Amino acid sequence: MIPTIALNDDHLMPQLGFGVFQVPDDDAHRAVATALDAGYRSIDTAAVYGNEAGVGRAIAESGLDRGDLFITTKLWVDGLSRDGVRPGLEASLERLGLGSVDLYLIHWPAPATDSYLAAWEGMEEVRDLGLARSIGVSNFLPEHLQRIVDLGGAVPVVNQVELHPALQNRETIAANTSHGIATEAWSPLGQGAALTDPVVAEIAEAHGVTPAQVVLAWHLQQGRIVIPKSVTPARMTENLEATRVVLRERDLEALDGLDRGARTGPDPENFNG
Ligand code: NAD
Repeated sequence: MIPTIALNDDHLMPQLGFGVFQVPDDDAHRAVATALDAGYRSIDTAAVYGNEAGVGRAIAESGLDRGDLFITTKLWVDGLSRDGVRPGLEASLERLGLGSVDLYLIHWPAPATDSYLAAWEGMEEVRDLGLARSIGVSNFLPEHLQRIVDLGGAVPVVNQVELHPALQNRETIAANTSHGIATEAWSPLGQGAALTDPVVAEIAEAHGVTPAQVVLAWHLQQGRIVIPKSVTPARMTENLEATRVVLRERDLEALDGLDRGARTGPDPENFNG
């Protein structure tokens, strides 16, 4: 059973989902079909991943009720304007073969373009039109969130940020929490790098579970949403079963101690697409 998180617009989001970054379209079709079979119900894609069509085919063929699925996609930087959001989302929906997504995110703030505030008005519009049930952001730093909140309209439901033991992003999590924004961890396993850490290995051995399950349980026990990626069926199931792992307080503290400020992706402060 996958736990859910109540978003600030009262919709529920599965706390553990399946990510498809760097998975080519055909492979995404296969991987998402396998993930849905394994029990995943939340899928995280993006226009820029180039695999929305493959994700959509897997959804259509699954025979699952649309209401049982939670589909997220993201607006790329080239659509960051008041009038760029709706065509961006409509093109994604066309590729996905869906009438709406459960969550639409601004992929990056691209601060040098100074366009994310205008784009947020477009996000509110697509939500009001029913094309996206919930709207949120990704890779937003505290100052970007503050400017959105100061607009006085909708508060993003989620901020999806890079977050794993080697990069714990504490200031951003604190800002999310203070605004009632759920924190969603991308690259929750540090793209696999977290799994070879000796502290992680030791905790895994103590609980008789795998390193990936330890890292995912660390996120889950702190209320974060996670979207690990694997195209290997056994690992998909292994990651799903992290929901059953209960870490001790001292395990959480040891994992908290692994922060080195080490990114796997770009720094949102100076990434502009
Ligand atoms: P991740 O941390 O999920 O790591 C994925 C890698 O870890 C896999 O390629 C595999 O090699 C390994 N792995 C996964 N499960 C394993 C297991 N059980 N045992 C051993 N190894 C295992 O990294 P990711 O794919 O970069 O991130 C996950 C998702 O986050 C993406 O697919 C995407 O949906 C999202 N994402 C979002 C952004 C953004 O800017 N919003 C950026 C990057 C990723």
